[in-house]
Amino acid sequence: MAWSTRSRVSSFLGSEVGVMGSLFHWDTCWRTVPFSVPTNSSSAVSSRTRPWPKFMNWARMDSCYAAASFKEKQSENKDTDVRNMAEAGGEHALFGLMKQRFLSFKNHKYMKELEHFQALSKAQYPKFMVIACADSRVCPSNILGFQPGEAFMIRNIANLVPLMKNGPSECNAALEFAVTTLEVENILVIGHSSCAGIENLMKIQEDVESSFINKWVTNGNVAKLRTKAATAHLSFAQQCRFCEKESINQSLLNMLSYPWIEDKVRSGLLSLHGGYYNFSSCTFEKWTLDFNGCTVNEESSSYAIKEQEFWS
Ligand SMILES: [Zn+2]
Repeated sequence: MAWSTRSRVSSFLGSEVGVMGSLFHWDTCWRTVPFSVPTNSSSAVSSRTRPWPKFMNWARMDSCYAAASFKEKQSENKDTDVRNMAEAGGEHALFGLMKQRFLSFKNHKYMKELEHFQALSKAQYPKFMVIACADSRVCPSNILGFQPGEAFMIRNIANLVPLMKNGPSECNAALEFAVTTLEVENILVIGHSSCAGIENLMKIQEDVESSFINKWVTNGNVAKLRTKAATAHLSFAQQCRFCEKESINQSLLNMLSYPWIEDKVRSGLLSLHGGYYNFSSCTFEKWTLDFNGCTVNEESSSYAIKEQEFWS
C-alpha cells in the first residue's frame, strides 16, 4: 500500500500530468465515491476509500485560467501589473487588482468546476500536509500547483517543525489535525534558497537578547550545529545553503518525536518528504525520509533519505 501511494504521488509530482489523466481517470474516481463529513478521527472516512481530488485538472485549468487572464490583461489596462498599480494607486488599486483576480478565479475556475468546489465546501480530503517557509517567493500552491483541497498547509519562518517536548505551537497543532483527523498520507517540508530565517539562525549569538524571530529559529539549533561541524571550511553563504537543507531533515526527524506521527510512519500509512526550491535556478529537489535508517533518542539522532529526485 505504501508503495502504491508513493507511486501515485511521484506521478503527480513529476511533470507527467498529461499521462496522469489517462492513467488514473480522476474524473470518474471523483464522481463515483460518495462524500461524507468527518466529525472526528474515529468517524472520519478512511483515507483508503476517499476520492482522489482532481489533480489532473490543475494543469488544464491553469492554462485556461492563464490564457483568460492574459486576454483580460490585454483588453483592460496596464494597471494590472501589481508593481505599477502600487506606484500608481496605492492600497486601493492593489485591492482593485485583488478583486479582479478573485473574480477571474470565480469565473474561470470555480464556476467551471462547480461540482468539484461544491464537494469541497462539504469536506476536505487532502493527501498532503505541506510545511513551507513564510517567504513570499516560495508559495507551494504556485510552484507545485496544489489546488484547493489537495494540501493542508502551514507556513512559518524557515519551515521549522519543533520537537514535541518544546510544547504547543501553531505548527504542531496543524500537524496534529492533519495527521489524526484528516489522515494525510504525506507530509512535505519545503525549504528554499536564500532563506532569511536560516540565515538568522546561523547568525544569532546565544547571549544576544532574543526577539520572537530568534526564539523561533532556535528550533533549528541542531541543524545549525551539524552545519557548523560539517562546513567549517566553507563561506557563510555556503554554510547557509547547507543549513537550509539540513534543517529540513531536522524537521522531518523532529516529527518522529510525536508518537501519532511515528506510529503511522512505522506502519507505512504516512510518508515524510523533504523538498528544496532554489528560486535562483528554478530547480526543485525532492526526497523521502527513510524511517528504517533513522535513529532518534535523547543522546543522538541521525537520519537517512531515499527516493531523491532533482527537477530542473
Ligand atoms: Zn525562508
